[in-house]
Amino acid sequence: MTAGGHEVVLHGHDAASGLEAIIAVHSTKLGPSLGGTRFFPYPDEVTALTDALRLSEGMTLKAAAAGLDLGGGKAVIIGDPSLAGPELWAAYGRLVDRLGGSYITAEDVGTSVENMAEVHRHTQWVCGLPTSEGGSGDPSPMTARGVRAAMTASAEHLWGTSDLAGRVIAIQGVGKVGGALARLLADDGAKLVVADARRKAAESVATDTGATVVAPDEVLFIEADIVAPCALGAVLSDETVPRLRCQAVVGSANNQLAHEAEAEALAARDILYAPDFLVNAGGIVNITTELDGAYDPVEATRRVDGIHDTMVSVLARADRDGITPEAAAIALARSRLDA
Ligand code: NAD
Repeated sequence: MTAGGHEVVLHGHDAASGLEAIIAVHSTKLGPSLGGTRFFPYPDEVTALTDALRLSEGMTLKAAAAGLDLGGGKAVIIGDPSLAGPELWAAYGRLVDRLGGSYITAEDVGTSVENMAEVHRHTQWVCGLPTSEGGSGDPSPMTARGVRAAMTASAEHLWGTSDLAGRVIAIQGVGKVGGALARLLADDGAKLVVADARRKAAESVATDTGATVVAPDEVLFIEADIVAPCALGAVLSDETVPRLRCQAVVGSANNQLAHEAEAEALAARDILYAPDFLVNAGGIVNITTELDGAYDPVEATRRVDGIHDTMVSVLARADRDGITPEAAAIALARSRLDA
């Protein structure tokens, strides 16, 4: 998916703290750019830059499709997150501050809400702060809630009812999002099948929810109503799509399609693929309510639940125009960006 060139790319280097960071502002057309800070031991700067460019562009589409008045941005810090100290977070906060609010940061892979609290001491342009500081805390439970909202919309589309009771739902990865999702779906009466690379995590979720545990290499391919990839990207490939035995794929993992062509391959097999960037927007929708002033969990929940209606309209548009839901979600985002 492409949405044009980037507005600003800022490279920050601070010798004293060892900070090596790249902030990519893809678009501020709909509002300040927002996206998390990924902290990862990239092998070189080109790989880090490529990731920042790609992820920030994805954030533009995600925010636009979710109806947020925000643009897309992303930052990457090169290095080992376990070695980061207060000086590095201070230097990073000053770097974010230089962009004067055109980029707002948050947590992502390798960073935490506590790290964001440190960054916040040096710039106001941060959200996703700890609840102890009046923020929204860990976004994962709200991301899970958004996934369920997308599932009920998909269920209505496929089976004429949003009721998930009795539906077989297989979850790949029961970490922060997948675990919370399993608990929500168990309350809905779904029959769960779970797998995790950490067997103990899967067993613990199974104890709480009555789920059946299967091996990580089986979970995508069991006979199910819905499969929810909540672990890794690129799980839907020309090797895996032909082996799926489900009616819908609705999960939180980012970049589930190994190639854009897989969206067509899934449609050709009559499998509803709910676009990941729409399904997993609950986290960003939640944290951005902090930008309106004090975090209001009731208002945040209402907005996250709105993913249901967005999904309904994307599926309707896909049917109407004879395109995949992925193409319909991108068209929805583009129509906002081009307006
Ligand atoms: P997490 O690290 O807490 O959980 C991921 C889980 O997947 C872990 O328990 C891990 O052991 C398991 N796993 C890894 N490889 C696996 C495999 N091959 N088979 C089965 N299980 C495997 O991460 P998370 O925060 O729950 O995020 C899950 C996915 O959702 C990621 O792709 C993330 O980018 C995406 N996402 C998360 C959020 C959020 O709010 N946390 C928001 C948007 C998107």
